[in-house]
Amino acid sequence: MSPGSTQCTHLNTIEVTELPASVDGCTDCLRDGGVWLHLRICLQCGHVGCCDDSPGQHASRHADAAGHPLIRSLEPGEDWVWCFPDELAMVIPEITGTTRIPPSPMLS
Ligand SMILES: [Zn+2]
Ligand SMILES: [Zn+2]
Ligand SMILES: [Zn+2]
Repeated sequence: MSPGSTQCTHLNTIEVTELPASVDGCTDCLRDGGVWLHLRICLQCGHVGCCDDSPGQHASRHADAAGHPLIRSLEPGEDWVWCFPDELAMVIPEITGTTRIPPSPMLS
């Protein structure tokens, strides 16, 4: 596959184009008393979940359960977006803002 031959067909699902100024952590971990490693945000509804290296894998599980295809990393210095159905990483410059996140409870 050459670059440019794959294109995400889910960009029209994006409702979150400005990232929140800060988040408290993974929504589901905070509710259930779990711990997370890295944070991701759903670009359709703004759900904050944890990465696949976290015990809860709440970002993937939210995408599955809700049928929301796109997440963006909230980690400092990371701006990639991942599409679950297309298994495609991309950068979407139209999404602006920087989110302040707490340190991972798994690393502290
Ligand atoms: Zn896609
Ligand atoms: Zn979580
Ligand atoms: Zn969502």
